[in-house]
Amino acid sequence: MSRSFPPEVRERARQRTCPDCRARPGDKCAPDRAGRSQLHRGRLRDAEASLQPLPPHRLLTPSGDRHFNEVNPGDRDTLVVSWHPDALHALADNPYEVAVLLGLALTEYQAPFPSSPALCMFLSPLGFLAEEEVAEAAERLTARGFVERADKRSPVVNREAICLVAWTDLPAAFRLQWNAAKAAVPAPAPFGE
Ligand SMILES: [Zn+2]
Repeated sequence: MSRSFPPEVRERARQRTCPDCRARPGDKCAPDRAGRSQLHRGRLRDAEASLQPLPPHRLLTPSGDRHFNEVNPGDRDTLVVSWHPDALHALADNPYEVAVLLGLALTEYQAPFPSSPALCMFLSPLGFLAEEEVAEAAERLTARGFVERADKRSPVVNREAICLVAWTDLPAAFRLQWNAAKAAVPAPAPFGE
């Protein structure tokens, strides 16, 4: 038996984008196979999450264990997204906040649109979220202290949480390790072979 959601959550869900069928706020979800109307679970879960109180402020102390994603893998002048591990961990269940944080950081650093599949996947919710939902994620990121100014045109992110660095500015030892790790991964076979 699936969990039922209270009426205020169902009402809120109708006013949001559905991540499952991409219904717009105010529109109905796509009917199920039998033609019955429904509210998709992702939409209900998002509505439930949006009714939660704002997350607490989180003080991030410098970490030597940051996570890196090249913006354009293979380009030797690429920028690299550098994430604080605790920030990523705090956002593990919040793909919309990850998308908005990354989007704001790319804007702040005037980075090109990434060709990295991982970064494109992180950004994908921005392709369907409504403007209010992006603003809501930005508000939560601000409450956490990961974003300092959530202005779409000139945002300021908390550089401890996320920043962009030039590949050439990464420590030499790290770059050697990284190149070695990449060389150890077999290249995918070209199509048709
Ligand atoms: Zn739906």
